[in-house]
Amino acid sequence: MGARFAVDCNLGKLAKWLRILGYDTLYERGNADRSFLRKAAEEGRIALTRKRDLARLSPPGRLVVVKADHVVGQIGEVLETLALAPDPARRMTRCLRCNELMEEVARERVEGLVPAYIYERYPRFQRCPCCNGIFWPGTHRRHIEEALRKRSPDRRP
Ligand SMILES: [Zn+2]
Repeated sequence: MGARFAVDCNLGKLAKWLRILGYDTLYERGNADRSFLRKAAEEGRIALTRKRDLARLSPPGRLVVVKADHVVGQIGEVLETLALAPDPARRMTRCLRCNELMEEVARERVEGLVPAYIYERYPRFQRCPCCNGIFWPGTHRRHIEEALRKRSPDRRP
């Protein structure tokens, strides 16, 4: 599926958003350093950091130093720098906690596990095989659409 990322500890929100958009994103709790870059390179991931001094340790094209402060600007920066267009069909296919791809789960099997009004409202549910969390299409969709719309004026020339 195209780009995969490794994100350092200063970009936790960005990591979550990349997962929402469907990108395989490793979140590194430690600070970005040589071993972070090595791990990213070994796994074929593009490293994302706010630490400018890492740029000289990394081969070109394998690292993006993110400058925007707000997560919406950060997403724009990453997507533009790497000329990526996220596939809408991939949105909300990954667990935000674990980065695992979620599985479809039969509606009857989530009865009692999600709030009743949610159960009534949605025909389809997904479950993360790693943490067993249950998600439904409405979980983040409105947030995503708003943020992606807001992204345009945030772009720099
Ligand atoms: Zn999970």
